[in-house]
Amino acid sequence: MKTFDYRTATALDDGLEPGAVFLAGGTNLVDLMKLGVATPDMLVDVNRLPLGEVTETPDGGLRIGAAVRNSDLAADPRVRSAYPVLSQALLAGASGQLRNMATTGGNLLQRTRCPYFMDASKPCNKHAPGSGCPARDGDHRNLAILGGSQACIATHPSDMAVALAALGAVVHVDGPAGPRSIAVTDLHRLPGDTPERDTVLEHGELITAVELPALPFAARSAYRKARDRASYAFAVGSVAAALDVADGEVRDVRLAFGAVAPKPWRAFTAEQQLRGRPATKEEFLAAADAELAGAQPLRDNAYKISLLRNLTAAVLARLAEEVR
Ligand SMILES: Cc1cc2nc3c(=O)[nH]c(=O)nc-3n(C[C@H](O)[C@H](O)[C@H](O)COP(=O)(O)OP(=O)(O)OC[C@H]3O[C@@H](n4cnc5c(N)ncnc54)[C@H](O)[C@@H]3O)c2cc1C
Ligand code: SF4
Repeated sequence: MKTFDYRTATALDDGLEPGAVFLAGGTNLVDLMKLGVATPDMLVDVNRLPLGEVTETPDGGLRIGAAVRNSDLAADPRVRSAYPVLSQALLAGASGQLRNMATTGGNLLQRTRCPYFMDASKPCNKHAPGSGCPARDGDHRNLAILGGSQACIATHPSDMAVALAALGAVVHVDGPAGPRSIAVTDLHRLPGDTPERDTVLEHGELITAVELPALPFAARSAYRKARDRASYAFAVGSVAAALDVADGEVRDVRLAFGAVAPKPWRAFTAEQQLRGRPATKEEFLAAADAELAGAQPLRDNAYKISLLRNLTAAVLARLAEEVR
């Protein structure tokens, strides 16, 4: 591993030197450093900053500090009752030990699990810009069918972020240019010609909190994850959904897909198609088809289209069933 300096951040305006990165739980960053994929000059440990609280907002939502651990957030009674999709997504990720370390900010900013990205000896436009994308002709079974580019088809691996996208969460950041807020659906970038940049964050911008808006019908919400093993595995496809049904019709719906795009994929097209329609399996499948019409699968990942279709219909049908 390359040598690096270390310091503890003691105030939000500590700033970040060139070549420095923030360290939270370390469960992704330190792995990438051991692999030689991340080579920071300095780690700035943010664990002592006062970002570890979940508080209620005046509008009835929740503000989650960036340092709140995944296990604490999943267990929070307010999350479990008002936003069960978030609790379920968190519990579907990693292992108990990892969730005890992993933070809200770090989970959002974890890097792709593309096997070429994780291998510093391989070409990869994301870790070595301009070196090529061997995944297109190689191992892309778990890579993107939506939102990719010629330069990169990586998927974002977070389960939590998919739930946050469905819930319309807002990310609060602070940095050299002052504080700002970003919809979680706008935090991650599509790769285009510059896949080396995962997000719209500038160097030195620290995530301070994630805010969940009040969304009463999210009390009926769920996360469903398909993976190669029953536990301790990343998703090959996932769906986060919240559903508001009255008199057999969809009044409102929130839907997001995971592990199929370079970012948590809010299914805006499917949502729009479903509002005002009968809450039936046929309608759910048709809405998923509309969202997936733009999918561009490669040789070995077309299976994700039928997987997502079926997951979407199954999750929404179960939520609709709860109303009857
Ligand atoms: C074996 C294994 C299995 C896993 N399985 C899953 C899974 O199934 N589902 C899933 O979703 N995840 C999974 N994970 C990933 C895990 O969830 C992430 O590693 C974890 O959430 C990252 O959080 P962290 O606090 O440890 O981040 P760190 O590793 O400390 O940081 C990650 C990145 O975020 C940046 N960062 C951290 N905090 C901030 C902040 N406040 N502001 C700005 N930048 C910040 C860091 O600089 C770094 O770039 C798995 C990990 C492992 C090792
Ligand atoms: S898909 Fe992206 S991360 Fe994977 S090899 Fe291609 S450029 Fe690298």
